[in-house]
Amino acid sequence: MDFDTIAAIATAPGEAGIGIVRISGDRALDISDKIFKSERISSLTKEEERKLVYGHIINPKDKKIIDEVLIVYMKGPNTYTKEDVVEINCHGGIVPVRRILELVLENGARMAEAGEFTKRAFLNGRIDLAQAEAVMDLISAKTDSGFDVSLNQLEGSLSKKVKDLREKLLSMLAQIEASIDFPEHDVEDSTYRKLMDGGKEVYQEIDGLLDTVYTGRILKEGLKTVILGKPNVGKSSLMNALLRENRAIVTDVPGTTRDVIEEYINIKGIPLKIIDTAGIRETNDVVEKIGVDRAKELINMSDLTITVFDASRELSDEDLEIIKLIENKKSIILLNKTDLDNKIDKKDISKHIPDKKIINTSVIKGDGVDILEDTLKDMFFTGEVKINDNIIVNNVRHRNQLLKAKKDIEDAIEAIKAGLPIDLFEVDIKNCWENLGEITGDTVGEDIIEKIFKDFCIGK
Ligand code: GDP
Repeated sequence: MDFDTIAAIATAPGEAGIGIVRISGDRALDISDKIFKSERISSLTKEEERKLVYGHIINPKDKKIIDEVLIVYMKGPNTYTKEDVVEINCHGGIVPVRRILELVLENGARMAEAGEFTKRAFLNGRIDLAQAEAVMDLISAKTDSGFDVSLNQLEGSLSKKVKDLREKLLSMLAQIEASIDFPEHDVEDSTYRKLMDGGKEVYQEIDGLLDTVYTGRILKEGLKTVILGKPNVGKSSLMNALLRENRAIVTDVPGTTRDVIEEYINIKGIPLKIIDTAGIRETNDVVEKIGVDRAKELINMSDLTITVFDASRELSDEDLEIIKLIENKKSIILLNKTDLDNKIDKKDISKHIPDKKIINTSVIKGDGVDILEDTLKDMFFTGEVKINDNIIVNNVRHRNQLLKAKKDIEDAIEAIKAGLPIDLFEVDIKNCWENLGEITGDTVGEDIIEKIFKDFCIGK
């Protein structure tokens, strides 16, 4: 495919050690020859390919030095975009990268749109659509496990599975075609049986992929967790105990009036995303300070509540109120401060709220925290989560396509079962094939492609 030459700042804006301006397209070398000067070489020729070359970016108009840089030229097609690529490593900071980008644009490149480098990698056939989406998921990953899942998809695990399924569907279609083309070979039971077997196999595999969606979401976004309890029961101490032993990633979410702090704690491979941690820490009490309505809201938003009670005090009305709130929610209950004289035990709680996991803890002494961690893992994953061995669907678009494909193959199976004329379910199988193809981008419209890449960041 023929494209114009694009350029963008590839690094995040702000002060940093280095910044990178990336150029991709036929004119990349041309442009860099115009603006890059080195004492050692006159041009980035083939001998210099894939080597970092030291020199200066100089404005060809007034010969003024723009910055001191290291530049690398990578000849297509073995590059990110499959086109010729030049990357200019300049000093980090807003000014040098912007100046260099402007100069590159003045000398023949066009400003790249969001995700355009990756889009070219897709359009030029280096990666498929699911892999391109994995690139974006990698960049935006906030959890280690989310990153690992996406890396796996970038390597092509999901794509391969989808391709295999489409092959199976194609061979089913071929069987149907053969039966239609030669009506004198009356469509035998064995053909129906084969189609039925094929259909069921495809159905099961799609269903298996859909089964991973929940895990995929948790690994990607974290298990949304609310820690509840009256003041002084030990919520902050629990948070601190969990944080001490487990790596945490803290991100600020800009764009809200008050910056929300999201805290991710990695527990036995499960990322917990603690909702409104600031609330817990600063106000010392979720329910009292933020009110029952907000507490309810938080509970509804969450995948899990960890509710803490103080074993050294009798249950109060407030405790009972909290119990009511978590009745229908996935919850773990901690009976904390068991190192003190106990006024209540597990039974006092379970008689109000049966069927919940209750753990005795002394957060201060560190007792029971490991049981909490094991319980968490057992609750959300049966067995180890081996990301590298499994295909895990973690992208909403992929899930939706799989759901459509599942419906198609279900319809086909129904029709086969009912012994309907063979060409009647041909269309279902074809739809299934197409819907799966939209995951990898084999059968996808321009509008969908546009929509996917629009959400990328500039420079990727
Ligand atoms: P929060 O208001 O629920 O966040 O409770 P904090 O974590 O601030 O704890 C309140 C008080 O209880 C602090 O003085 C803690 O040191 C103490 N505390 C927390 N956990 C335990 C525990 O397991 N045993 C004892 N004896 N004290 C604890």
